[in-house]
Amino acid sequence: MFARRIAVIGTGYVGLTTGACLASLGHRVVCADVDPDKIDRLALGQVDILEPRLAELVAEGLAAGRLEFVHGAAAAIDADLEVVFLCVPTPMGVGGIADLSSVEAVLDEIREKLPPGTVVVNKSTVPVGTAERTKELLRREDVAVVSNPEFLREGTAVHDFLNPDRIVVGSDAQDSAERIAGLYARLGAPTVLTDAASAELLKYAANCFLAMKLSYVNAMAELCERLGANLADITEGMGYDRRIGQAFLRPGPGWGGSCLPKDTRAMLQISDSADFEFRLLRAAIDTNERQRQRIVDKVRIAVTGNRGGSLAHLRLGLLGLTFKANTDDVRDSPALAIAALLRQAGAELVGYDPALRADTMRPELGDVSLVEDPVLLAKDVDALILLTEWPEFRTLDWSRLADVVRRPIVVDTRNLLDSDVLRRSGFTWTGLGSAA
Ligand code: NAD
Repeated sequence: MFARRIAVIGTGYVGLTTGACLASLGHRVVCADVDPDKIDRLALGQVDILEPRLAELVAEGLAAGRLEFVHGAAAAIDADLEVVFLCVPTPMGVGGIADLSSVEAVLDEIREKLPPGTVVVNKSTVPVGTAERTKELLRREDVAVVSNPEFLREGTAVHDFLNPDRIVVGSDAQDSAERIAGLYARLGAPTVLTDAASAELLKYAANCFLAMKLSYVNAMAELCERLGANLADITEGMGYDRRIGQAFLRPGPGWGGSCLPKDTRAMLQISDSADFEFRLLRAAIDTNERQRQRIVDKVRIAVTGNRGGSLAHLRLGLLGLTFKANTDDVRDSPALAIAALLRQAGAELVGYDPALRADTMRPELGDVSLVEDPVLLAKDVDALILLTEWPEFRTLDWSRLADVVRRPIVVDTRNLLDSDVLRRSGFTWTGLGSAA
């Protein structure tokens, strides 16, 4: 394999994984970030985010001299550079449209320093037309622009990068697209070579489909409750159909995280701008918002016996706060959205999450006070609400927790727990999608 000289701008979940994995494939990679403290820590091999194998790959890359970290995008550009990956944030901006200011800031910084023949690759999730816009902003005929959206999932980022379901590369410059596809050749994944606009839209199309699938299952859960049917059996039966598959068929407190909420909103904006009313997607977003309120109603019913009951001054213990298991990311976490609704209803909240230390100072956690272990969490609570599907919650010592709670009530918004174990331990259990 031909080792390329690559720069990766942005060292978050996507950028650091991209940099460390490309170095592990033998390329020479320099990673840049605006945050100088983060860069200092990374240069010492200290990885802030919780991702299996990531710290190991960073350490290996540093030791082999194939990975380095620099402060600021401009510092990553040298005369040997062949490829620049942009992995900066594209958060939800005004009206739901993706905010491209970080992408633009990086282009400003690197425009004049790029050696002729460099390929600028957009890995961030960006609206259709961004490759075009990037070309305009670069004002460099001798630099190609390629769209190569990333599909990794937090919690399994390294695994997903090295074992992708597919590689998507889009560009109006065929030879540059092939060069980028070649970087991944060793991974043996199916590769979709297309134009830039299609690659950009493909990423949103995939994420919006996943969001719709989840909203569909949450709607089915509600229907099952009303009809006295059992969602678990229904999704099992649906999942055996290879056209549907087992993944993303679990009900939950509503989808969240740093991608699905912003990507669904951005897709609505993209559709609006094309004068297309994407009603199916709008309904999936509405269903998701409703799901949060539905969880609060479930808590009210479980604790007070009726939907209108008051939660004022009741103490509720939240099991899990991250947006999903195996990550420490709380961005747009449904757990925190539900916590905010419970707080508004007057409840007092304590939280425990295996990935968050009790002394963590995160403004996003609002009024939730963190504790260090599940027994402390359960002490004197009126109910435990399971919000994140951490596998270890299944094997908690539920009898021990039953001894310390004020009232033995569990609302399981992920259908994670074994309801028989809970009942034997003295708890009442409420899940989603069944009459129980
Ligand atoms: P992140 O917030 O974890 O990381 C972004 C990094 O970019 C941060 O370290 C930040 O300091 C740095 N940065 C910001 N502005 C910069 C600048 N001007 N110069 C240099 N560095 C800068 O974000 P992320 O989760 O890695 O997401 C990045 C992009 O990838 C987004 O478009 C996101 O939608 C997309 N994406 C994310 C995931 C995911 O699971 N997180 C998956 C696929 C795609």
